[in-house]
Amino acid sequence: MLENNYQMSDQDVFLFGEGSAKLKDLLGGKGAGLAEMTNIGLPVPPGFTITTNVCREYMREGEKVLDRISNQIAEKMEILEKKTDKRFGDASNPLLVSVRSGAPVSMPGMMDTVLNLGLNDQTVKGLIKQTGNEWFAYDVYRRFVQMYGKVVMRVGGQKFEDSINEFKLGLGVKLDTELNLKSLRDMVQQFKHIVKEDTGEEFPDDPKKQLRMAIKAVFESWNGKRARTYRKISKISDSMGTAVNVQVMVFGNMGYESGSGVGFTRNPSTGEKHLYGEYLLNAQGEDVVSGSRTPQPIDKLEEDLPQIHEDLQKFARVLEKHYQDMQDIEFTIESGMLYILQTRTGKRTAQAAVKIAVDMVQEGLITKEEALLRIEPDQLKQLLHKRIDPKAEVNVIAKGLPASPGAASGRIVFNTDEAAELGEVGERVILVRPETTPEDIHGMVASQGVLTSRGGMTCHAAVVARGMGKPAIVGAEELKIDLVKEIFYVNDVKVEKGMMITIDGGSGQVILGEVPTIEPELTSDFKNLMKWADEARRLGVRANADTPEAAKNARDFGAGGIGLCRTERMFNAKDRLPIVQEMILAETLEDRRFYLKRLVPMQKCDFKEIFRIMDDLPVTIRLLDLPLHEFLPKIEDLIIETTTLRLTGKNDKELKKKERILKKVQALTEYNPMIGHRGCRVGISYPEIYEMQTRAIFEALVELIDENVSPTLEIMLPLVSEVNELKYLRERIEKYANEVIEESGKAIKFSIGTMIETPRAALTADEIAEHADFFSFGTNDLTQTVWGYSRDDAEAKFLHDYLEKKILIQNPFETIDRKGVGKIMKTCVDLGRKTNKKLKIGICGEVGGDPPTVEFCDEIGLDYVSCSPFRVPIASLAAAQAQLKKKK
Ligand code: PEP
Ligand code: MG
Repeated sequence: MLENNYQMSDQDVFLFGEGSAKLKDLLGGKGAGLAEMTNIGLPVPPGFTITTNVCREYMREGEKVLDRISNQIAEKMEILEKKTDKRFGDASNPLLVSVRSGAPVSMPGMMDTVLNLGLNDQTVKGLIKQTGNEWFAYDVYRRFVQMYGKVVMRVGGQKFEDSINEFKLGLGVKLDTELNLKSLRDMVQQFKHIVKEDTGEEFPDDPKKQLRMAIKAVFESWNGKRARTYRKISKISDSMGTAVNVQVMVFGNMGYESGSGVGFTRNPSTGEKHLYGEYLLNAQGEDVVSGSRTPQPIDKLEEDLPQIHEDLQKFARVLEKHYQDMQDIEFTIESGMLYILQTRTGKRTAQAAVKIAVDMVQEGLITKEEALLRIEPDQLKQLLHKRIDPKAEVNVIAKGLPASPGAASGRIVFNTDEAAELGEVGERVILVRPETTPEDIHGMVASQGVLTSRGGMTCHAAVVARGMGKPAIVGAEELKIDLVKEIFYVNDVKVEKGMMITIDGGSGQVILGEVPTIEPELTSDFKNLMKWADEARRLGVRANADTPEAAKNARDFGAGGIGLCRTERMFNAKDRLPIVQEMILAETLEDRRFYLKRLVPMQKCDFKEIFRIMDDLPVTIRLLDLPLHEFLPKIEDLIIETTTLRLTGKNDKELKKKERILKKVQALTEYNPMIGHRGCRVGISYPEIYEMQTRAIFEALVELIDENVSPTLEIMLPLVSEVNELKYLRERIEKYANEVIEESGKAIKFSIGTMIETPRAALTADEIAEHADFFSFGTNDLTQTVWGYSRDDAEAKFLHDYLEKKILIQNPFETIDRKGVGKIMKTCVDLGRKTNKKLKIGICGEVGGDPPTVEFCDEIGLDYVSCSPFRVPIASLAAAQAQLKKKK
């Protein structure tokens, strides 16, 4: 939530020259910008700002605050009169002003503005005298009545539009600029009549009253529907309030030497250093944005008004130099004179953000450190994945959790084997399942993306998809999937197998049909920025990778090693699963060893490939974590299959086989498998499994020595809660490893450490650290165990409701919960380092790539973070920023 840092001041009204950028919370963004531009000598029409404090007082106390500050306003108005040599409300030489909103946080177009204020039947004559242009004066007058009527007197805008159209129809013209003088004069009266009819009140002629009412209307617009909705979406505090800027009018509608426009000092979409924007001659600001006439690109101003074009370029450079950032400006040209009416930091795409930051370093405008701090790490996501073309029209049918970014289209397939078969022959498919399990891996690999109706950010599908860099949406609860009929419903929309869908894993949107996408590209600017980030950060950044492709991606994205290589996937590959299943079903140790032995060469092969890619970088291999039943078919399927076989009585051999599996699955079934017989607990029950894995790892290393590949090996144990678990396993792993090493006659160094995934492990870290070379926080499980929230169910079941109802302000599976999980992590770090000074500590849960979590990890002194390969650049930038902020 963006809160206001209230700035107290005795002054309620500031002339532009009295303020500065530092007073943004008091003067609003627009007021602070106008003050700053005035101070550096840019041509800004004079004016003053009524502070946000006054707005808040108005919200509390109502209109009496306007009485309280009326003298201050009158004083400032007098100053404006002196500066312009005109008088407010004077019939022969009137001063006209604009009254605009401007909150501390940009809320474009969400609040109200009144232009041309101060006109009535007498002062309009003075305006004619000043300009010698009666058409112009009446055009301004009718605009004023229209805008004031709409904004202050709350008359529906369409009534005025209809009236204008009638006048145009009567004259047979299309554009406002083609209206004749008589129709403009008549229009003023007509508009006043509309106001009277609609409100029962006369249009106010007294400029002082007009000003007071307009200020009040701008304050009121802070609580208008548009503004409230925008604040809710943008998480802006409702109590901030808006400032009001009263400024001398300059007129862009004084003929073809005049005009209005908006622009960016650099291209906000590509970052190119070239003034970008549009303008209209003979127009006021609202004409440019309203679409009533088509604006011209700024380059054309060079032909229309070359001097103005040159001035605009010059002012753009001055503003960039002053703010040291790309600016978004509004300008008005009055009879060949250029005025700047607004400046603010321009919003930009990720591509532009990177290019602008790097270019500005090269131009000497900012330092590398500033460039690094300028970019929102999460914004880099846009550059690293295929994304939906923003110009495309999309038919969004549902929304789920944005589990793995990127966009993908394909035909819907519900069956994992079918997805694998189709994918292998080059068909583009999206695998749609209620949830995925390790058994679905082959289907996921072959799909373009994955969509599930259950699960959270750390569920199997999400973790695996992120590792593969594959788009995924999980927990799309609106999808009612019928696996038998191979359809899903979203409300009344029926979606069938074979239909084309697109998923956007960055936003969680499920889109019907195929949508054009844009490829990512890593520019030299991006690479430069990453190099600077690497120089600035203290934290190491590794990747979670368990396949050669993921390891390759990790290196390409600059990872300093692998922080988590999960070995479950290697058990699930098509050629292994039957052997793994036999191993689990084995009744005797001997049988089990027989099957495990067959797995050794296969796992060895996997490890060798990964080691080769990582070369001498550290690789943390985690021994088997999953409960064994996850490798066997589902109990429901087995019951159906055995019943069918029994009823048909046809295939007795097959029936016996299935019954045997069913019995084993029943025996392995647990009420709470995520806190059940898994992790190191399986390793202790069946030491031969870890023995097989250890042998495969070390045999791989031995064979690679001749290839000159020698990674820094770290063996990691999952779900340790008690030091004796670690002691028991460490002793055995060292024994198995040393047997292989001794046999080979080579020297191989390695270390053994543990994940910290339960509160008990963290709270007894001093004991555990005496037997561990390193710790790695498994925050997926640690969050589950600290909160008592199921990592697979909580997000889809109630967490979103909690977030909506503000019971929680953030999802603890997405970003670190500093108060709970974070506190336990900090305790663990302190305890661990107390007994083991050399203890290396990292994190490899999914939050490890989340920028605020990275900052936290830097703060508590971790050595590295590890995240999915595609988040490595994001984590690197966040790690650099953490250090730079600390230095600041
Ligand atoms: C964790 O629990 O945070 C972790 C990295 O392990 P996994 O997700 O494989 O349980
Ligand atoms: Mg875990």
